[in-house]
Amino acid sequence: MNAKWLAAIGGGFILIGGSAVAVSGRLLSSSSASRLGIENKPDSQKVIDRLIWLDLRVTEVLSLLLKNFPAAHLTSAYRNSEVNAAVGGSPTSLHKEGLAFDVGGIADPFLGAKFLRDNLNELKVKPRTVIAETSPIHVHLDYFDPLGIIKTDTLTSKFLGEYTTNKFTVLV
Ligand SMILES: [Zn+2]
Repeated sequence: MNAKWLAAIGGGFILIGGSAVAVSGRLLSSSSASRLGIENKPDSQKVIDRLIWLDLRVTEVLSLLLKNFPAAHLTSAYRNSEVNAAVGGSPTSLHKEGLAFDVGGIADPFLGAKFLRDNLNELKVKPRTVIAETSPIHVHLDYFDPLGIIKTDTLTSKFLGEYTTNKFTVLV
C-alpha cells in the first residue's frame, strides 16, 4: 500500500494510492481528543496504512460479536501520540500504532473475550491479544503488525488466562 494523506474531511482522511482510499472516521474518533480539543490525526504513513487494514478487522470482529452481544460497538481505536499522552496511555500502546481497538456495550467483558476465543475460526485475521478490561468496561483487541515493523512479541509479557487487577488476557 502506498497511499498518501491529503486532507482531513469529515473526520476521515482522503488518501491517494492506486485509487482513493480513506481511513474510516470511526477509527479516528476519540471522545478524549474532542474534550481536550486535540485533533486525532494519524502521525505517520505507516499508521495510515495500518488503519485502512484495521478497519476490516473492526468490521469482522463487530459482526461476530453482534451475534451474541447486540449492543457491541467500537469505542476507541487510533490515538496519536498527543492523545495517548493526554489520556495517560502507555508509551508502547498499540492504539498509538494503529494496531488496537476497543469494543464497548458488552456488560461482561470476560464473556465477550471468551466468546471471541471460542469463535476464532470465524475471523479472517486472528488478534494477537484479546483483553477483558473492567475499568472502564470494554474488550481490547490488538494485532500483530501487518507491515512487520513492530515486533510485538517483545513488547509485553502475555499470559494465557491469567488474571491481574483489572485484566484478563484471553488470547496470546
Ligand atoms: Zn485498548
